[in-house]
Parts: sequence; C-alpha cells; structure tokens
Amino acid sequence: MSDDCIFCSIVAGEIPSRTVYETDDVLAFLDANPLAPGHTLVIPKAHHEHVQDMPNDLAADVFAVMQRLVDPIESAVDADGSTVAFNNGEVAGQEVPHTHGHVVPRFEDDGGRPIHSIFGERPELDDDELDDIAAAIAEDTD
Ligand code: 5GP
Ligand code: ZN
Repeated sequence: MSDDCIFCSIVAGEIPSRTVYETDDVLAFLDANPLAPGHTLVIPKAHHEHVQDMPNDLAADVFAVMQRLVDPIESAVDADGSTVAFNNGEVAGQEVPHTHGHVVPRFEDDGGRPIHSIFGERPELDDDELDDIAAAIAEDTD
C-alpha cells in the first residue's frame, strides 16, 4: 500500500467504492465520475504506478478481469460495445498513480470517438525509421 494513494485507500476499505468484482489480487469498481453508465475501473490490489510495473502474472490477472467483466458491464447498461483502455503515465492522462484499466460502455450515437482521436496529427515515418523502431523494440524484449 502506498500512502496518499486513493486507490490503495479503496482497496483498504478506507474509502467506499461500488465494487463489482474482486479476486485475491484484483479489484473492479465503478468510476466515481463516469464517462458513461457502467464505467468500471479494474486495478491490481497492490500498488503499482504503471502497467509495466506490475509483475507479469498480475498484469495477466488484471486483463483477465477486464475481459471477464466486459459482457456483464455491457449487459447491465444495455451497451453496444466498450472502450477498454489504460492511460499509462501522466503524459498520457493518467491522473491516479495506481495503474487502472478502464472499461467504458459505448452506445450508438454516444458522441464518443475511437482511441485514435486522442492523438493529433500522425507522424510521417519512412520505412527506415519504422525498421529502426521495430528493431529497437524487439531487441529490448528479453
Ligand atoms: P485516469 O485519468 O487516472 O486514467 O482515471 C482516473 C479515474 O479515476 C477517473 O475516471 C476518475 O473519475 C476516477 N476516480 C478518481 N477518484 C476516484 C474515487 O475516489 N473513486 C472512484 N470510484 N473513482 C475515482
Ligand atoms: Zn495505490
């Protein structure tokens, strides 16, 4: 547990939440300021700031819970689909520094847009640059 972390306080029961599902290691609860009815957050109970900070097994557990909840969430609010995403890092819009996945129900004509719409103009990258980026990523995956 991290002091002054709102999501650690929720895990500890010090702040109430509308829990919808939990395992020994993962907690899912309704977002207090939802982007849509049914907007749910899925967190590891242990404090990790970023997606990549979680041990691999825990990351798998968090995603498994998100995947497990999509149908019940969509059914509960009669949604047509959902956006499933993490804001990872402050620069990406992560406000609570305890990693959390969002499941946001989507509806026909809800006025929302795809994840692509949060970005500005696409960078122009030539084949060499793409090759270099792919190689750099691949080399660092041990
Ligand atoms: P972020 O921008 O960090 O990806 O998303 C943080 C989310 O946590 C926001 O959607 C916000 O509404 C939600 N949130 C912040 N504080 C609380 C809280 O105390 N309880 C609950 N249930 N959600 C919270
Ligand atoms: Zn925390």
